Amino acid sequence: MKKHNFYAGPSILPEYTIQKTAEAILNFAGTTLSVLEISHRSKEFVAVMDQAISLVKELLEVPDTHEVLFLQGGASAQFYMVPFNLMKTKAGYYNTGVWAANAIKEGKFFGEVVEVASSKDKNYNYIPKNVTIPTDIDYLHITSNNTIYGTQIYYDIDSPVPLVADMSSDIFSRPIDVSKYALIYAGAQKNLAPSGVALVIVRKDALGKTGRPIPTMINYQTHIDAKSMFNTPPCLPVFSALQTLTWLKDNGGIKAMEAKNLAKAKLLYDEIDRNKLFVCPVPDPEDRSRMNVTFVMAPGYEALDKGFLAKAKELNILGIEGHRSVGGFRASIYNAMPIESVQVLVDAMKEFEAAN
Ligand SMILES: *Cc1c(COP(=O)(O)O)cnc(C)c1O
Repeated sequence: MKKHNFYAGPSILPEYTIQKTAEAILNFAGTTLSVLEISHRSKEFVAVMDQAISLVKELLEVPDTHEVLFLQGGASAQFYMVPFNLMKTKAGYYNTGVWAANAIKEGKFFGEVVEVASSKDKNYNYIPKNVTIPTDIDYLHITSNNTIYGTQIYYDIDSPVPLVADMSSDIFSRPIDVSKYALIYAGAQKNLAPSGVALVIVRKDALGKTGRPIPTMINYQTHIDAKSMFNTPPCLPVFSALQTLTWLKDNGGIKAMEAKNLAKAKLLYDEIDRNKLFVCPVPDPEDRSRMNVTFVMAPGYEALDKGFLAKAKELNILGIEGHRSVGGFRASIYNAMPIESVQVLVDAMKEFEAAN
């Protein structure tokens, strides 16, 4: 019976991606070798990397001022690569969750970090508004989607200083104006590919300004010059990323994906708001994530927590247990999640209400 995969990451990928990856593990691009064992310098793999980079550029309309990179170390390596490459003395960060706080911690190794805005006072259940961005910082770092708490900034901020965004859990979920960002990064395992690679989009003229010597591997310029082939790249995740990008293009691109994501999020939030058993811990609908939908048992019904998880399990709904810092439930409804699976979850919530 079909499983409904709501895991937060690694998470659901298009069936297309998994099918094509399985085929390439057996016979890659007609070579009769596996993608697992072929040289990254082979013309077949070089073509994969080149196509993946150019499809990212096409889908996100990346301007010529920016370059696209596939790097190892996940999003967490970007927490130190960003300040290493961009911070002279001081940077500003939004503190909107655990991942943002982790980025802040790493930034402090390189200079002064200003918390420009924070939602820590309410367990990160909102996006700070009316923020005054200082102009004496080298960059402003935001986390566009807070995977654990279910909040999202789904618009492109106007920043007077270079803007850096961790888009690990919402990249490709909506069109973005790349020209507004100095740097965007995303670990692949939420919306793009298996873990093992991070996507980076960097404005070339934002680099080379710190005066700090930078070790070769963590210097973005190295990877720009080598077209992400300075050393052995994570070949399999990059291959899978290309399949997901192809799937995105074949399914109408990012705008079409955004429309589907909006419909899925509306279906689920409407049910949470209607159902007497559940509440969304993010009170302002404007702040609610379209990728990670958090909900908890309503006051008076807390004891039903385990019962709902059991009900979900019966219906092959997987991965909806909330992060320990929020509790309750979290349904991650990334690009590859079909609305039919969201409907199964909504039906489960309705049935559970009727039985209680
Ligand atoms: C998952 C996640 C990370 C961490 O990604 P890794 O690739 O495991 O380092 C960072 N930021 C956000 C927003 C995430 O969702």
